[in-house]
Amino acid sequence: MITFEGVTKRYADGTVAVDDLSIEVPTGSITVFVGPSGCGKTTSLRMINRMIDPTEGRILLDDQDIRKIDPPTLRRGIGYVIQQAGLFPHRKIVDNIATVPYLLGWDKKKARARATELMERVGLDPKLAGRYPFQLSGGQQQRVGVARALAADPPVLLMDEPFSAVDPVVRTSLQEELLRLQAELHKTIVFVTHDIDEAIKLGDTVAVLRVGGKLAQFAAPPALLSD
Ligand code: ADP
Ligand code: ADP
Repeated sequence: MITFEGVTKRYADGTVAVDDLSIEVPTGSITVFVGPSGCGKTTSLRMINRMIDPTEGRILLDDQDIRKIDPPTLRRGIGYVIQQAGLFPHRKIVDNIATVPYLLGWDKKKARARATELMERVGLDPKLAGRYPFQLSGGQQQRVGVARALAADPPVLLMDEPFSAVDPVVRTSLQEELLRLQAELHKTIVFVTHDIDEAIKLGDTVAVLRVGGKLAQFAAPPALLSD
């Protein structure tokens, strides 16, 4: 479980990006942060892997204050997927996916076998393993991004608008594959989007944020008030 306890983030210029956020993200479920541009979604996400630290309040991972965990150890347990997959352009797909296993010193053969297995899991033809990112479509690149985040089997997955840059048809299939994958993997997922339909489709729980970083609603989709 990830717990936000009275978390506020004020940037150096005085901007309050997140304002007194207290929520619980249950283990093994998808929590979606949704709201308009600038409401503090990315800031909230980046505080979980300590790319940013809160100004006030604290974040707990399974009841431990994340400031007591050193960032590399923390991040080893957190997969991170961003909008433009952020792949290494000069590395083959298989080696992009195996980035973290290589860093962890896995045997190269084992790391590559894991990468190939993940390609199938995320709906990529393993024949693409030897290609470079520019030879893949945007949707395929996002699948690689998801596979890379899953490579070392982290319990937590942070996803920042992972499907926003692909066309609607591909987006729908990526959403469905994420739900299918999650039914097997039961990760603790925090998913950021500005699209309320996507939030309702994917979220076990949805946190609606307003510009200024205030939480407006926190509920399972059926209970979300429409406004
Ligand atoms: P979202 O992901 O919902 O678009 P962000 O978390 O990126 O929102 O940003 C929340 C607010 O904080 C916005 O007003 C944004 O301009 C501001 N902000 C983000 N990063 C910085 C920064 N490094 N310095 C100052 N203000 C920032
Ligand atoms: P952007 O501003 O494009 O959304 P960032 O500047 O936040 O991206 O991050 C730059 C790169 O650093 C990304 O490609 C991301 O994959 C990587 N990165 C940042 N934090 C982590 C992390 N905790 N684990 C793995 N990769 C990370």
